[in-house]
Amino acid sequence: MSSLQPLYLRPRTRADLAAGLAAHHGDYALLAGGQTLVPLLQKNPGKVGAIIDLRHVEGLSDVHEGDAEVTLGAMVTLAEAQDRLAPIFPSFALALAKTANLPVRNWATIGGSLALFDTASEAWTFLHAYDADMILLGPEGEARRPVALGAIPPGFALTAIAIGRPSPGEAAGFAEILRRRSGGRALAMGFARSNAGGQVTVTVSGSGIPPTRLGSFGQIAGKALVDSISKTGAAPAVRAWLLAAARRALANLTEAQDPS
Ligand SMILES: Cc1cc2nc3c(=O)[nH]c(=O)nc-3n(C[C@H](O)[C@H](O)[C@H](O)COP(=O)(O)OP(=O)(O)OC[C@H]3O[C@@H](n4cnc5c(N)ncnc54)[C@H](O)[C@@H]3O)c2cc1C
Repeated sequence: MSSLQPLYLRPRTRADLAAGLAAHHGDYALLAGGQTLVPLLQKNPGKVGAIIDLRHVEGLSDVHEGDAEVTLGAMVTLAEAQDRLAPIFPSFALALAKTANLPVRNWATIGGSLALFDTASEAWTFLHAYDADMILLGPEGEARRPVALGAIPPGFALTAIAIGRPSPGEAAGFAEILRRRSGGRALAMGFARSNAGGQVTVTVSGSGIPPTRLGSFGQIAGKALVDSISKTGAAPAVRAWLLAAARRALANLTEAQDPS
C-alpha cells in the first residue's frame, strides 16, 4: 500500500538507478518526459510508492550512430529522435511527425513512448518492424531484450534502444489511418520494408492490435495481405483499417523506391 505522497528519487548514475529500482520492488513510476505520467499521478498521487526521476541519470540522452546500429538513449525526446533519425530511417521520422503534437514531442521521450506499449504507438510499431532491441537495466546490470517480446518486466528500466541500420538498397513506406484529418490517435498504421532482393515485409498495428508482422511477400499479392490481416483476430472494422494502412504503406514504399 502506497502512502499518498510518493517518495521522490533523483539518481545521477546507473548504479543509483539500479539501486532505486531494487529498493522499491516494482512500486514506483519512472519519470521521463512526464507527458503521460504526470496527469496520471495528479489524478491519483497514491498510485505508486516512489517516483524515480530519470532526467538526471548520466548518458540516457545520448545518441550513438555506429556502423551496424544506431543506439538511442531512452531519454532522447521524440522531437530529437525525429531530427536525428530522418537521414537513416526517413519513414520513422515521418511517423514521429504524426505522433502527438510538437509541444508533446519536445518533452515526451522515446523510452516513455515505448514503455507504454500502446497499440496506437508509432514508436513501438516502427521498433517492432525494425527488430530493435531494448537495453534494460536491472539487478544484474544491463541486458538486451527484443522489442518484439513486449512489456518491460518490473524492476527494470529502459536505458536505450538499439536499431540495426537498414541494409544497402532497402526502402520503407509508412502510413496511418486517423479518425480525423487534423490528427488524433491513429486507428491503424503500417510500415512496409523492402530489402535489396525485393522481399517486402509489412507490419501493422492499432485499435488494440499490437504491432504484427504480416509475413514476407515476394510480390505483394492482394489476397496474401488480406489473408494475413484476417489472422490477426481483429474485428472486421479494425481489419479494414489495418488493410488500408498496409496498402498505403506499400504505396508509399513504391514511391520511395521510385520517386519519379
Ligand atoms: C496530447 C497527447 C497526444 C499524444 N499522442 C500520441 C500519439 O499520437 N502517438 C503516440 O504514440 N503517443 C501519443 N501520446 C503519448 C505520448 O507519446 C506519451 O505521453 C509519451 O510518449 C510518454 O513519454 P514520456 O517521456 O512523457 O513518459 P512519462 O509520461 O514520463 O512516462 C510514461 C510511462 O513510461 C514509463 N517509463 C518512462 N520512461 C521509462 C524508461 N526509460 N524505462 C521504463 N519505463 C519508463 C513510466 O514509468 C510511465 O509509466 C500523446 C500524449 C499526449 C499528452
